[in-house]
Amino acid sequence: MSIPHQLERADLLCKQRGVRFTPTRRNVFTLISGYQGAVSAYDLLDKLKELEPNAKPPTVYRALDFLLAQGFVHKVESLNAFLFCEHFDEHHPMQLLICNQCGLVVELHDEAINQAFEQQAKLNGFVITNQSIEAHGQCRQCQTTERQC
Ligand SMILES: [Zn+2]
Ligand SMILES: [Zn+2]
Repeated sequence: MSIPHQLERADLLCKQRGVRFTPTRRNVFTLISGYQGAVSAYDLLDKLKELEPNAKPPTVYRALDFLLAQGFVHKVESLNAFLFCEHFDEHHPMQLLICNQCGLVVELHDEAINQAFEQQAKLNGFVITNQSIEAHGQCRQCQTTERQC
C-alpha cells in the first residue's frame, strides 16, 4: 500500500479517536513506513533531523509512544526497534519472525498461538498485560542465497 494512502487512513483514525496527529508524528510515521524491517529510534532520529533539524531523542521517543499507542507501529522487543504495522486499523494478535541475516521481520496474526499462550498464563495464575512473541532465524530468501554460494 502506498504511503500517502496509509497516511490518509492514519489521519482519519486520529480524527475519529480525537487525538492529534502532529507534523512530527506524521513525519515519524512516514519515515517508519518506508522501512522493510524494524528500525531503531536512533536511525529514525537521523532521518528525522533531515526534516526537522532541531529533533532530539525525546522528540522521536514521544512520537513513537504515540504511534505505539495508536497501534500504527509495533515494538520489536528483542531488537529494541520499531516496526510499521500494515494493518493498523484493526486490533490483531501478533507474532514476529525476525531474520538475523537481512533484518526482515514477518508479522504473523495467529489467534490460536495467542489463545494458547493466554491459556497457559491463566493456568499459572498469571495475568498478561503486554506480550511479545518473537522468533529469530533465517528467512526463505537468505536460506536460498546461502545455498547458491
Ligand atoms: Zn500489526
Ligand atoms: Zn533474511
